[in-house]
Amino acid sequence: MIDLCTLGTGGTMPLHTRALASLYVRNGARALLVDCGEGTQVWVGKLGWGFQRIGAILISHYHADHCSGLPGFLLALTKAGRTEPVDIWGPRGLVRVMSGLRVICPNLSYETVLHEVPDEGSCFEAAGLRVRAFPLDHGMPCLGFRFDLDRPRAFLPDRARELGIPMCLWQRLQRGESAEDWTPDAVLGPERRGISFVYATDTRPVPAIAEAGRDTDLMILEGMYGAEDDLPKALKNSHMLYRESAALAREAGTGRLLLTHFSTSMEEPEEHLAAACAVFPRTGCARDGMTMTLRYDGVTEQTTPGWTET
Ligand SMILES: [Zn+2]
Ligand SMILES: [Zn+2]
Repeated sequence: MIDLCTLGTGGTMPLHTRALASLYVRNGARALLVDCGEGTQVWVGKLGWGFQRIGAILISHYHADHCSGLPGFLLALTKAGRTEPVDIWGPRGLVRVMSGLRVICPNLSYETVLHEVPDEGSCFEAAGLRVRAFPLDHGMPCLGFRFDLDRPRAFLPDRARELGIPMCLWQRLQRGESAEDWTPDAVLGPERRGISFVYATDTRPVPAIAEAGRDTDLMILEGMYGAEDDLPKALKNSHMLYRESAALAREAGTGRLLLTHFSTSMEEPEEHLAAACAVFPRTGCARDGMTMTLRYDGVTEQTTPGWTET
């Protein structure tokens, strides 16, 4: 299973009621952050899932609302005692941006390993998840991400006994390795569906988003503007309306859509939710501190409504 927390759901500027973009993704003992808006370390501390396990940070693009929290967060990791390297992925320009940010956080207790994703995107592994970064349309290099957690095939002990395979070889076969005369196919069940989700904000609608969302449990897309009247602003600033995100979720056939990255002009993002639900009914608005659990059986559980309400 994968646990997610939308640490901040605001776009552009932090509000006293809404923090800036950051998503905490926990895969057992390992975790990563997607985006790191101003003050992210405060909300990671409040969540209580820990700093130490965060070994990767994925930055969608270099607008301040997505990366200005990096110096504080990297220092918080030092304070938490991290010594293992931290991988940071971002679009073209990462090395330049990080060299600027590191001026104000020069002394870290660990190495940062920078990975510039080429404009056409790339695939990599982070926190035990398969990640595919793909280009968005935001007037500057900007990435969306698809995450996949594969589910291992089931081991069939009865079959192994029938075949007379010594128990000392079971673990190797279970790991997908051949052992003596036996191949894993002899004792493993059929392929099983894993867990997948997409995160894409700060973009006009592009086909790559719907394509990345195929056969996913969840898509987290931007809800910058709820009202139809804001279409000119969405076009000018390269953002999406609720209904445009919902249309991508419908086209992808995803399990559920969560809107985030709300404009400061919307005091209550849920007021506009009907515009999205008319296009894709299984849509909700994220809240700061909302947590969700994605399970192998396809069930997505929302475990808290978010800490701004409590
Ligand atoms: Zn933004
Ligand atoms: Zn942006």
